[in-house]
Amino acid sequence: ATMPPLLSAMANAGRHGVLVKSAVVMERLGRPDAVALDKTGTLTEGTPRVTDVVPLPGAELDEDGLLALAAGAERPSEHPLGRAVVDAARRRGLAVPDAEDFGSAPGTGVRATVGGRRIAAGSPARLLREQAGQGTARASLEAEKLERRGRTAVLVTRDGEPVGVLGLADRLRADAARTVAELAALTGRPPVLLTGDNPRAAAPLAREAGIADVRAGLLPQDKVAAVREMTGAGHEVLLVGDGVNDAPALAAAHTGVAMGGVGADLALETADAVVVRDELAAVPRAMALSRRARRLVT
Ligand code: ADP
Ligand code: MG
Repeated sequence: ATMPPLLSAMANAGRHGVLVKSAVVMERLGRPDAVALDKTGTLTEGTPRVTDVVPLPGAELDEDGLLALAAGAERPSEHPLGRAVVDAARRRGLAVPDAEDFGSAPGTGVRATVGGRRIAAGSPARLLREQAGQGTARASLEAEKLERRGRTAVLVTRDGEPVGVLGLADRLRADAARTVAELAALTGRPPVLLTGDNPRAAAPLAREAGIADVRAGLLPQDKVAAVREMTGAGHEVLLVGDGVNDAPALAAAHTGVAMGGVGADLALETADAVVVRDELAAVPRAMALSRRARRLVT
Protein backbone atom coordinates (compact mmCIF):
# COMPACT_ATOMS: atom_id res chain seq x y z
CA ALA A 1 0.00 0.00 0.00
CA THR A 2 3.00 2.33 -0.34
CA MET A 3 2.47 3.30 -3.98
CA PRO A 4 -0.85 5.11 -4.14
CA PRO A 5 0.01 8.13 -1.93
CA LEU A 6 3.30 8.66 -3.78
CA LEU A 7 1.70 8.26 -7.18
CA SER A 8 -1.03 10.73 -6.39
CA ALA A 9 1.64 13.08 -5.01
CA MET A 10 3.47 12.79 -8.35
CA ALA A 11 0.32 13.67 -10.23
CA ASN A 12 -0.26 16.56 -7.85
CA ALA A 13 3.31 17.81 -8.21
CA GLY A 14 2.83 17.68 -11.98
CA ARG A 15 -0.25 19.86 -11.66
CA HIS A 16 1.87 22.33 -9.68
CA GLY A 17 4.49 22.40 -12.44
CA VAL A 18 7.04 19.84 -11.22
CA LEU A 19 7.63 16.68 -13.24
CA VAL A 20 8.95 14.08 -10.82
CA LYS A 21 10.68 11.21 -12.59
CA SER A 22 9.82 8.34 -10.25
CA ALA A 23 8.02 7.38 -7.05
CA VAL A 24 11.44 6.95 -5.43
CA VAL A 25 12.25 10.57 -6.22
CA MET A 26 8.82 11.68 -5.02
CA GLU A 27 9.53 10.01 -1.70
CA ARG A 28 12.99 11.57 -1.44
CA LEU A 29 11.92 15.14 -2.31
CA GLY A 30 10.69 15.76 1.22
CA ARG A 31 13.84 14.58 2.98
CA PRO A 32 16.46 17.29 2.33
CA ASP A 33 17.65 19.39 5.26
CA ALA A 34 19.84 21.54 3.02
CA VAL A 35 19.10 23.28 -0.27
CA ALA A 36 21.54 24.80 -2.75
CA LEU A 37 20.37 27.11 -5.52
CA ASP A 38 22.10 28.13 -8.74
CA LYS A 39 21.83 31.82 -9.63
CA THR A 40 21.35 32.39 -13.34
CA GLY A 41 18.03 30.94 -14.47
CA THR A 42 17.21 29.58 -11.02
CA LEU A 43 17.16 32.50 -8.59
CA THR A 44 17.00 34.92 -11.51
CA GLU A 45 14.73 34.93 -14.54
CA GLY A 46 17.61 33.72 -16.68
CA THR A 47 17.04 36.23 -19.45
CA PRO A 48 19.81 38.77 -18.88
CA ARG A 49 20.02 41.94 -20.96
CA VAL A 50 23.11 43.75 -22.20
CA THR A 51 23.20 47.08 -20.36
CA ASP A 52 26.73 48.29 -21.12
CA VAL A 53 29.04 48.03 -24.13
CA VAL A 54 32.55 49.28 -23.34
CA PRO A 55 35.23 49.12 -26.08
CA LEU A 56 38.77 49.41 -24.72
CA PRO A 57 41.07 52.16 -25.95
CA GLY A 58 43.42 50.93 -28.65
CA ALA A 59 40.99 48.26 -29.84
CA GLU A 60 39.79 50.49 -32.68
CA LEU A 61 36.26 49.26 -32.21
CA ASP A 62 33.17 51.31 -31.51
CA GLU A 63 30.29 49.97 -29.42
CA ASP A 64 28.54 48.41 -32.41
CA GLY A 65 31.76 46.84 -33.67
CA LEU A 66 32.47 45.30 -30.28
CA LEU A 67 28.92 44.03 -29.85
CA ALA A 68 28.82 42.52 -33.36
CA LEU A 69 32.14 40.75 -32.78
CA ALA A 70 30.96 39.31 -29.46
CA ALA A 71 27.62 38.31 -30.96
CA GLY A 72 29.42 36.45 -33.76
CA ALA A 73 31.35 34.38 -31.23
CA GLU A 74 28.25 33.83 -29.06
CA ARG A 75 25.83 32.96 -31.82
CA PRO A 76 26.09 29.15 -31.41
CA SER A 77 25.97 29.46 -27.59
CA GLU A 78 23.01 28.10 -25.62
CA HIS A 79 24.01 30.04 -22.51
CA PRO A 80 21.64 32.82 -21.39
CA LEU A 81 24.53 35.31 -21.51
CA GLY A 82 25.34 34.28 -25.08
CA ARG A 83 21.73 34.62 -26.14
CA ALA A 84 21.55 38.06 -24.55
CA VAL A 85 24.60 39.27 -26.48
CA VAL A 86 23.19 38.06 -29.82
CA ASP A 87 19.82 39.57 -28.95
CA ALA A 88 21.39 42.96 -28.14
CA ALA A 89 23.23 43.01 -31.47
CA ARG A 90 20.03 42.20 -33.37
CA ARG A 91 18.11 44.90 -31.49
CA ARG A 92 20.69 47.43 -32.64
CA GLY A 93 20.18 46.19 -36.19
CA LEU A 94 23.74 44.89 -36.45
CA ALA A 95 24.74 42.14 -38.85
CA VAL A 96 25.97 39.24 -36.71
CA PRO A 97 29.03 37.73 -38.41
CA ASP A 98 29.49 34.00 -38.93
CA ALA A 99 31.66 32.03 -36.53
CA GLU A 100 33.82 28.99 -37.14
CA ASP A 101 35.47 26.55 -34.74
CA PHE A 102 33.06 27.40 -31.94
CA GLY A 103 33.85 26.02 -28.52
CA SER A 104 32.48 26.68 -25.05
CA ALA A 105 33.92 26.05 -21.61
CA PRO A 106 31.29 25.68 -18.87
CA GLY A 107 31.50 28.49 -16.33
CA THR A 108 34.09 30.30 -18.40
CA GLY A 109 32.79 31.41 -21.79
CA VAL A 110 33.06 30.84 -25.52
CA ARG A 111 35.71 30.93 -28.24
CA ALA A 112 35.33 31.10 -32.00
CA THR A 113 37.00 32.36 -35.15
CA VAL A 114 35.18 35.40 -36.48
CA GLY A 115 36.40 37.07 -39.67
CA GLY A 116 39.67 35.18 -39.42
CA ARG A 117 40.42 36.38 -35.86
CA ARG A 118 40.24 34.35 -32.67
CA ILE A 119 37.53 35.81 -30.46
CA ALA A 120 36.84 34.82 -26.87
CA ALA A 121 33.99 36.09 -24.70
CA GLY A 122 33.61 35.13 -21.08
CA SER A 123 34.40 35.58 -17.43
CA PRO A 124 37.02 38.34 -16.99
CA ALA A 125 38.55 36.55 -14.00
CA ARG A 126 38.98 33.33 -15.98
CA LEU A 127 40.04 34.81 -19.32
CA LEU A 128 42.48 37.28 -17.78
CA ARG A 129 44.07 34.55 -15.68
CA GLU A 130 45.10 32.80 -18.89
CA GLN A 131 46.99 35.78 -20.24
CA ALA A 132 48.75 38.94 -19.17
CA GLY A 133 48.68 41.14 -22.27
CA GLN A 134 49.05 44.92 -22.02
CA GLY A 135 45.33 45.65 -22.20
CA THR A 136 44.80 43.46 -19.14
CA ALA A 137 44.95 46.07 -16.38
CA ARG A 138 42.52 48.39 -18.14
CA ALA A 139 40.19 45.50 -18.95
CA SER A 140 40.00 44.29 -15.35
CA LEU A 141 39.40 47.84 -14.18
CA GLU A 142 36.42 48.24 -16.55
CA ALA A 143 35.07 44.80 -15.60
CA GLU A 144 35.33 45.63 -11.91
CA LYS A 145 33.50 48.93 -12.41
CA LEU A 146 30.60 47.05 -14.02
CA GLU A 147 30.59 44.33 -11.38
CA ARG A 148 30.46 46.88 -8.58
CA ARG A 149 27.21 48.07 -10.17
CA GLY A 150 25.88 44.52 -9.88
CA ARG A 151 26.50 43.64 -13.52
CA THR A 152 27.81 40.38 -14.90
CA ALA A 153 30.87 41.45 -16.89
CA VAL A 154 31.80 39.61 -20.08
CA LEU A 155 35.30 40.23 -21.39
CA VAL A 156 35.89 40.11 -25.14
CA THR A 157 39.36 39.31 -26.47
CA ARG A 158 40.65 39.32 -30.07
CA ASP A 159 43.70 37.21 -30.85
CA GLY A 160 44.29 37.08 -27.11
CA GLU A 161 44.13 40.85 -26.49
CA PRO A 162 41.24 42.39 -24.52
CA VAL A 163 39.15 44.61 -26.83
CA GLY A 164 36.15 45.36 -24.67
CA VAL A 165 33.83 44.52 -21.82
CA LEU A 166 30.06 43.99 -21.84
CA GLY A 167 27.82 44.46 -18.81
CA LEU A 168 24.70 42.32 -18.38
CA ALA A 169 21.92 42.42 -15.83
CA ASP A 170 19.44 39.74 -14.89
CA ARG A 171 16.36 40.13 -12.71
CA LEU A 172 15.55 38.25 -9.56
CA ARG A 173 12.50 36.04 -10.03
CA ALA A 174 9.37 37.61 -8.59
CA ASP A 175 8.91 34.60 -6.28
CA ALA A 176 12.60 34.28 -5.26
CA ALA A 177 12.43 35.83 -1.78
CA ARG A 178 9.22 34.02 -0.87
CA THR A 179 10.63 30.70 -2.08
CA VAL A 180 13.88 31.17 -0.15
CA ALA A 181 11.85 31.77 3.01
CA GLU A 182 9.70 28.70 2.34
CA LEU A 183 12.75 26.51 1.73
CA ALA A 184 14.31 27.75 4.97
CA ALA A 185 11.11 26.94 6.85
CA LEU A 186 10.84 23.47 5.28
CA THR A 187 14.44 22.41 5.89
CA GLY A 188 15.19 24.40 9.03
CA ARG A 189 18.18 25.96 7.29
CA PRO A 190 18.48 28.89 4.85
CA PRO A 191 19.45 27.83 1.30
CA VAL A 192 22.93 28.55 -0.04
CA LEU A 193 23.67 30.14 -3.41
CA LEU A 194 26.16 28.50 -5.77
CA THR A 195 27.12 30.58 -8.77
CA GLY A 196 29.69 30.82 -11.51
CA ASP A 197 29.13 34.55 -11.62
CA ASN A 198 31.39 37.04 -9.85
CA PRO A 199 30.79 37.74 -6.14
CA ARG A 200 30.09 41.44 -6.71
CA ALA A 201 27.20 40.71 -9.08
CA ALA A 202 25.88 37.86 -6.94
CA ALA A 203 25.86 39.68 -3.59
CA PRO A 204 23.06 42.24 -4.17
CA LEU A 205 20.77 39.61 -5.76
CA ALA A 206 21.41 37.20 -2.89
CA ARG A 207 20.70 39.91 -0.35
CA GLU A 208 17.44 40.80 -2.05
CA ALA A 209 16.42 37.12 -2.05
CA GLY A 210 17.35 36.71 1.63
CA ILE A 211 20.34 34.43 1.10
CA ALA A 212 23.39 35.05 3.28
CA ASP A 213 25.61 32.13 2.26
CA VAL A 214 26.91 32.92 -1.25
CA ARG A 215 29.62 30.94 -3.01
CA ALA A 216 30.60 32.72 -6.22
CA GLY A 217 33.11 32.28 -9.03
CA LEU A 218 32.49 28.53 -9.09
CA LEU A 219 33.21 26.29 -12.07
CA PRO A 220 30.82 23.36 -12.60
CA GLN A 221 33.26 21.07 -10.73
CA ASP A 222 33.44 23.59 -7.86
CA LYS A 223 29.66 23.36 -7.56
CA VAL A 224 30.07 19.58 -7.31
CA ALA A 225 32.67 20.07 -4.57
CA ALA A 226 30.34 22.43 -2.69
CA VAL A 227 27.54 19.86 -2.85
CA ARG A 228 29.90 17.09 -1.70
CA GLU A 229 31.02 19.25 1.21
CA MET A 230 27.41 19.54 2.32
CA THR A 231 26.66 15.84 1.88
CA GLY A 232 29.97 15.02 3.60
CA ALA A 233 28.82 17.07 6.58
CA GLY A 234 25.85 14.72 6.86
CA HIS A 235 23.24 16.79 5.08
CA GLU A 236 20.63 15.44 2.68
CA VAL A 237 21.08 17.92 -0.16
CA LEU A 238 18.64 19.14 -2.78
CA LEU A 239 20.09 21.25 -5.59
CA VAL A 240 18.09 23.40 -7.97
CA GLY A 241 19.98 24.24 -11.17
CA ASP A 242 19.10 26.14 -14.29
CA GLY A 243 19.97 23.31 -16.62
CA VAL A 244 22.71 24.92 -18.71
CA ASN A 245 25.83 23.58 -17.03
CA ASP A 246 24.72 22.37 -13.66
CA ALA A 247 24.42 18.72 -14.72
CA PRO A 248 27.42 17.46 -12.66
CA ALA A 249 26.18 19.21 -9.50
CA LEU A 250 22.61 17.96 -10.09
CA ALA A 251 24.05 14.44 -10.20
CA ALA A 252 26.11 14.96 -7.04
CA ALA A 253 23.15 16.10 -4.93
CA HIS A 254 20.81 13.55 -3.33
CA THR A 255 18.04 15.20 -5.32
CA GLY A 256 18.65 17.33 -8.40
CA VAL A 257 15.91 19.61 -9.66
CA ALA A 258 16.28 21.37 -13.02
CA MET A 259 14.52 24.55 -13.99
CA GLY A 260 13.10 23.49 -17.34
CA GLY A 261 12.52 26.92 -18.82
CA VAL A 262 15.91 27.43 -20.48
CA GLY A 263 16.79 23.77 -20.17
CA ALA A 264 19.78 22.04 -21.66
CA ASP A 265 18.93 18.45 -22.49
CA LEU A 266 21.78 17.02 -20.43
CA ALA A 267 20.56 18.62 -17.22
CA LEU A 268 16.97 17.58 -17.89
CA GLU A 269 18.19 14.01 -18.25
CA THR A 270 20.40 14.17 -15.17
CA ALA A 271 17.82 15.81 -12.92
CA ASP A 272 15.45 13.80 -10.74
CA ALA A 273 12.71 16.33 -11.24
CA VAL A 274 12.08 19.18 -13.67
CA VAL A 275 10.22 22.41 -12.98
CA VAL A 276 8.20 22.84 -16.16
CA ARG A 277 6.31 25.91 -15.04
CA ASP A 278 8.48 28.99 -14.84
CA GLU A 279 8.11 29.28 -11.07
CA LEU A 280 10.73 28.64 -8.42
CA ALA A 281 7.98 28.39 -5.78
CA ALA A 282 6.96 25.06 -7.33
CA VAL A 283 10.02 23.48 -5.64
CA PRO A 284 8.97 23.89 -1.98
CA ARG A 285 5.43 22.98 -3.03
CA ALA A 286 6.64 19.63 -4.40
CA MET A 287 8.74 19.06 -1.27
CA ALA A 288 5.69 19.64 0.91
CA LEU A 289 3.65 17.20 -1.23
CA SER A 290 6.36 14.60 -0.69
CA ARG A 291 6.21 15.04 3.05
CA ARG A 292 2.47 14.71 3.11
CA ALA A 293 2.62 11.53 0.99
CA ARG A 294 5.30 10.04 3.25
CA ARG A 295 3.20 10.66 6.33
CA LEU A 296 0.42 8.67 4.65
CA VAL A 297 2.82 5.89 3.63
CA THR A 298 4.56 5.35 6.97
P1 ADP B 1 25.66 30.58 -12.96
O1 ADP B 1 26.30 29.69 -11.95
O2 ADP B 1 25.32 31.92 -12.38
O3 ADP B 1 24.49 29.94 -13.63
P2 ADP B 1 27.47 29.93 -15.15
O4 ADP B 1 28.25 28.86 -14.47
O5 ADP B 1 26.51 29.52 -16.20
O6 ADP B 1 26.76 30.91 -14.08
O7 ADP B 1 28.51 30.96 -15.81
C1 ADP B 1 29.51 31.51 -14.98
C2 ADP B 1 30.25 32.62 -15.68
O8 ADP B 1 30.91 32.09 -16.85
C3 ADP B 1 29.39 33.74 -16.18
O9 ADP B 1 29.11 34.71 -15.19
C4 ADP B 1 30.27 34.31 -17.29
O10 ADP B 1 31.25 35.14 -16.75
C5 ADP B 1 30.94 33.07 -17.86
N1 ADP B 1 30.24 32.53 -19.04
C6 ADP B 1 29.68 31.30 -19.17
N2 ADP B 1 29.13 31.12 -20.39
C7 ADP B 1 29.33 32.28 -21.06
C8 ADP B 1 28.99 32.77 -22.38
N3 ADP B 1 28.35 32.01 -23.28
N4 ADP B 1 29.37 34.02 -22.69
C9 ADP B 1 30.01 34.80 -21.80
N5 ADP B 1 30.35 34.42 -20.56
C10 ADP B 1 30.03 33.18 -20.19
MG1 MG C 1 23.67 28.46 -14.41
